[in-house]
Amino acid sequence: MIVCFDIGGTTIKGAIAYSPEDIRPVPRQPTPGDDFEAFVDVLRSVISEAEDAPLCVSLSICGVIDPDTRRAIVANIPCIHGRLLQQDLETALGLPVLIANDADCFVIAEAGLGAGRGHRVVFGIILGTGVGGGLVIDGKLINSDGGFAGEWGHGPIAATEVGDPPVSIPRFQCGCGQKGCIDATCSARGLEKLHAHLTSESSTSEMIVDAWGKGEANASRTIGVYVELLAGPLALVINMTGATILPVGGGLSNVSALIAAIDKAVRQRILRKFQRPIIVPAQCRIEPGLIGAALLGLAAMS
Ligand SMILES: [Zn+2]
Repeated sequence: MIVCFDIGGTTIKGAIAYSPEDIRPVPRQPTPGDDFEAFVDVLRSVISEAEDAPLCVSLSICGVIDPDTRRAIVANIPCIHGRLLQQDLETALGLPVLIANDADCFVIAEAGLGAGRGHRVVFGIILGTGVGGGLVIDGKLINSDGGFAGEWGHGPIAATEVGDPPVSIPRFQCGCGQKGCIDATCSARGLEKLHAHLTSESSTSEMIVDAWGKGEANASRTIGVYVELLAGPLALVINMTGATILPVGGGLSNVSALIAAIDKAVRQRILRKFQRPIIVPAQCRIEPGLIGAALLGLAAMS
């Protein structure tokens, strides 16, 4: 038995996991943002609900562990940001601690219990507040030692001439410090910036996708450009990794027609010719971070 957590900026979700089929969530608690002792106390309170001492504690975090310094980069939780988190938690809890990025936990969940079951190479995609991803091959997370593997959303890679007829797309500034990232152009906020650039309309991503679904011309133009911007970099990801399934999570993955449009555009651009969808909605719709953290911890202890 292990105890797992999905550490978000506002809430900590915990669960006691006996097996992949038996993951028992406990009530969520607010994340103590500025107080590490209070943060540890939240974890302790969940661990104390388990009948025995767990074999390990496994965490999904909304950030990364720097693979060189081992320090956590979690900008929205100051009390763990910059900390040697694994070491500090192992000392505080007296248990082995495993930590993975939330996109990595998402792909672990999909590979183990979701749309990726039966596939050797699973690339999980997050399309929502940010654009991220993770890679599982033969059941193993490629990022198991922390780091940035699978982060296809960053780098100056967004095309600057797209659409039919072609239109010029600016290299939007990204939070990572670079310009022209897919994260800056194809996240939910990126889609809004793209729509404002193309149509001078100010709409939320939900309104744009909604209007596209109704066949509205401006929204259709924006989504056409959006899908094309995503499709090139995703085709590269598939040609490089050999992924045969790419489950999509995040807010924008709720619109199945949008996922189908991306799938169609990507399959036109890759070398292997699939006769089935490869970019598909994720199946672990509820608590993928928690499920992924559970599977990670259970696999490490088996
Ligand atoms: Zn970036």
